[in-house]
Amino acid sequence: MNAIAPARPAETGCSDAPVLYERGQREVFCGLTGIVWLHRKIQDAFFLVVGSRTCAHLLQSAAGVMIFAEPRFATAIIEERDLAGLADANAELDRVVTRLIERRPDIKLLFLVGSCPSEVIKLDLSRAAERLSEAFAPKVRILSWSGSGIETTFTQGEDACLAALVPGMPDETAAAAPSLLVVGALAEVVEDQFVRLFAELGIERVRFFPPRRSDDLPAVGPQTRILLAQPFLAETARLLEKRGATRLAAPFPLGVEGTTGWLGAAAEAFWIDAARFDAAVTPRAERARAALARQREKLAGKSIFFFPDSQLEVPLARFAARELGMRLVEVGTPYLHRGHLAAELALLPAGTALSEGQDVDKQLDRCRAARPDLTVCGLGLANPLEAEGLATKWSIELLFTPVHGFEQAADLAELFARPLVRRSRLRV
Ligand code: SF4
Repeated sequence: MNAIAPARPAETGCSDAPVLYERGQREVFCGLTGIVWLHRKIQDAFFLVVGSRTCAHLLQSAAGVMIFAEPRFATAIIEERDLAGLADANAELDRVVTRLIERRPDIKLLFLVGSCPSEVIKLDLSRAAERLSEAFAPKVRILSWSGSGIETTFTQGEDACLAALVPGMPDETAAAAPSLLVVGALAEVVEDQFVRLFAELGIERVRFFPPRRSDDLPAVGPQTRILLAQPFLAETARLLEKRGATRLAAPFPLGVEGTTGWLGAAAEAFWIDAARFDAAVTPRAERARAALARQREKLAGKSIFFFPDSQLEVPLARFAARELGMRLVEVGTPYLHRGHLAAELALLPAGTALSEGQDVDKQLDRCRAARPDLTVCGLGLANPLEAEGLATKWSIELLFTPVHGFEQAADLAELFARPLVRRSRLRV
């Protein structure tokens, strides 16, 4: 049996490129935003933010108000009187949690989510989670993580949440065969497509993390091979590796090239025959390329500027440059993990301007001077830039929309094309 050719690119692109490090004022969402997609993913979990009215407003506006379903997140508001004494805040938290669990017997896993206010008053949510877990075990497990804007940017909330789940993952059995663990929340439609693809490739033991049900955590150990589906899971990957798992080096499954490389890394690790890989992957890749061609016509030659927001910027820039023919003006990211992004950096066109962190005024000056055709940025920057005549794309949309895998490649391209098409229609 022949293993398929290594998926790693021969190019070195931006592997050793200099990076502009900026540590000034930031304009990014905090990690609480992750609750919006995580509560849909882990279907028996509840997210209780211990925060302020600002946190409650953020969640409500990001998620919309759920009218028909019982919501699975809420905010326990820290009132001013709570700021006076921690003892009171702890007692109040116990009271809120007890009432919530009595009212909602469907909750199997409760996350206490820290915020800026809970951090400022030094409310120890990990101890609160331990205390409450003892009180409600075995019916409900209670864990904590922080989504505070002091500690996290918006996708790091998912990293913190998944990292909190890792200690509860069972150990692999002693005689376990190698298994594949896909790490990072994916839309269910995308997860189902990958399940079918891995089955066609002949990789049988595949699990996804986070799981759809909190009591169905996958096992982890030295036989586990992890394939990151998202580039913002540094802490989760570190903890899984500490449990003995091996991370497979791969680009991220965005666009045709990224998805092919990502699947190739799994196929290589599981010694999948090259012919079998081609039979499963090539027809899908060709269909995706054909669908992309329509968007490429609208986007080729256009310039694009990425503000740091989601940590998806480097894979997105690689996709925009190589599959859509766009010109990269600057690729900013809140945190550039050279290890996890190695395959992506190698594919980025040499000479791309990379920046990590933010000094928002300086970056805005660079953006205004370049006047890119499209700017990918957070909500807070989009309106002022639009008012100055620049077309923008909210980076948060790239998290709320299924964009991974072959079937979604054209949808991802369309997200970039839409603001330009809208502008040209308005001009007409
Ligand atoms: Fe604002 Fe901090 Fe609450 Fe996030 S956690 S909404 S940054 S106060």
